[in-house]
Amino acid sequence: RLRPIEMIDGTTVVVGEGVANPWNAVNYLGTLLMLAFVVDASVSLWRQGGRRRAAVVGGGVVFFFLVAGVHSALIEADIIQSPYIISFSFLGIVVAMSAELSRDLLRAAQMSRKLQQSEGELRESEQRLDLAAESAGAGLWSLDLNTRCYWVTKRVRQMFSLAPDETVTAGRFFSLVHPEDRERVRQIQETIIESRGEGHAEFRILPSDGNLRWMAWRGRMQYDERGSPRYLMGVTLDITERKLAEADARRHLQELAHLSRISTVGELTTSLAHELNQPLGAILRNAEAAELLLQADVPDLEELRATLADIRKDDERAGNVIDGLRALLKRREFEPHPVDVGRLVGEVVSLASSDASARRVQLGTEIPSSLPAVWGDSVHLQQVLLNLLTNGMDAMNQAENGDRRMVIRARLVGEGQVEVAVSDSGPGIQPDVVSRLFEPFFSTKATGMGMGLPISRTIIEQHHGRIWAENNATRGATFYFTLTTARGGCEG
Ligand code: ADP
Repeated sequence: RLRPIEMIDGTTVVVGEGVANPWNAVNYLGTLLMLAFVVDASVSLWRQGGRRRAAVVGGGVVFFFLVAGVHSALIEADIIQSPYIISFSFLGIVVAMSAELSRDLLRAAQMSRKLQQSEGELRESEQRLDLAAESAGAGLWSLDLNTRCYWVTKRVRQMFSLAPDETVTAGRFFSLVHPEDRERVRQIQETIIESRGEGHAEFRILPSDGNLRWMAWRGRMQYDERGSPRYLMGVTLDITERKLAEADARRHLQELAHLSRISTVGELTTSLAHELNQPLGAILRNAEAAELLLQADVPDLEELRATLADIRKDDERAGNVIDGLRALLKRREFEPHPVDVGRLVGEVVSLASSDASARRVQLGTEIPSSLPAVWGDSVHLQQVLLNLLTNGMDAMNQAENGDRRMVIRARLVGEGQVEVAVSDSGPGIQPDVVSRLFEPFFSTKATGMGMGLPISRTIIEQHHGRIWAENNATRGATFYFTLTTARGGCEG
C-alpha cells in the first residue's frame, strides 16, 4: 500500500510499503564486494605513497556507500521511514572524485607550463653551447654505442669534408683519420668506452678535399637514466695552424741551436788550430825524416814503415778533429739513435782539450764501461756537453783560483735513466742567479749571449730528459742532465 510521509521541510511525500524480495540480499552482497574492492585498492594506493588520493577518493567512496547502504537497510527493516536518497551519496562520491580530478588537471597544467619553460631554457642553453662551440671553432659530436653511428654538428662536417646528409658511421670516421694515427685513435676511443672515463688525442685527418689537417679530439662517456653507458660525447678542434706554428718554432730552434754550435766552435777555433797544427807539424817532420831515410843506399825499411805508421796516426788525429768540427757545423735535424756515452764524452773532451790546456784546466772523466747506450742525437748531445764545459771553464777563468778541474761523470740511475754530471771547481752559481740560469738571454758575462743553457735545456727536453744545476758542497758547481737508455725505448 501507499503511505504519506511528512519530510523535515514540512512537505509530504508518498512512499510504497511492501514485502522485501529475498533476492535483495544479492544487492547488499554486491555492495559489500564493491566496498571490499575499494578498501583494498585504497590500501594499495596508500602503500604506494598516494595517501592523499587514497584518503579522499577511497575514503569518500567507502563513506558514501556505507551511508547509502545503511540508510537503505534501515528503510527496509522498517526502522526508519524515508524515501531512498541514494543519489545524495553518489553526489558525494562524484564530488570527492572530481575534486581529485581537478587537482590532477591543475597539476598537469602547471607541469605543462614548467615543461614549456624548461624547453625554452634548453633551447637557450643549446644556442649558448652552439655559440660557444662556434666561436671556439669547435665541432660537437656523439657516438651512439648501440648503433655505432655519430651525430655531428655542421662544423664537424666542414672539418672532415662530409656531405650534409651523409651518415657518419664509425668506419667512415676512421677511414678519414691518417693511416699512421688510425690505430692509436681507435684504441684511445675504445679505452674511454671500456674504462667509462674520458680521454683526448691529437691526430691527422685526410679529408676528401685532400688537405691534411690536424685535429684535437676530446671525448667523455654519457649515461642513460639507469646509469648504463649510452653515448660517447665530445668536441673536435682544428689545430692545423697551431701544429704548423709549432713545426716553425721547432725549425727556428734548430737553426738557433745550429748558430750557437757555430759560435761555440768559433770560440774553440784558436785552440783547435793548435790542435790541428800539432799532427800536421808531426806529419811534416815525419815526411822529411822519411825522405832522409830514402836517400840512404840501403834504406832502413823497418824505420821507414814506423815513420809511415806515425804519419798515418797523426793524419787520423787531424782527420778526427776535422770530422768532429764538420759534424758540429753541419745543419741537421734531430735524429736520435743509440749513443755510447763514453765515446760521446771522449769526443767532446778531445774537442775541448786544447782550449782546456790553454786555460790550464784539467779535464777528467769517470764513465763506467758497463754503462748502457742512451737514446739521443750525438751531435746535439755534444753541443750540450761543450756548452757545460765552456761555461765551467769560463767560471774558473773569472775566479782566478789555483786548482782548475773539470770532471764529467755518468752513472745509471733507476728506470733506464743515465745521469750525466759536469762539475767544475769554480766559484759556483751565485744565489741570485740560480732561478734565472736557463732563461733565454740571461748572462753574467760581458760578451755572453745567454743562449747556451736555454738551448741545452731544449735539447735535453727533446730527449725526454731533465737538466738542472747545483753548487758543490766544497767548491764549484755541477750541471746534471738525464737521458733514457736505448733499451728504454724512448724514440724522441
Ligand atoms: P752565457 O754562457 O752566454 O752567459 P749560458 O746560458 O750558457 O749563457 O749561461 C748563463 C749564465 O749562467 C752564465 O752567464 C753564468 O752566470 C751562469 N753559469 C753557467 N754555468 C755556470 C757555472 N759552471 N758556474 C757558475 N755560473 C754559471
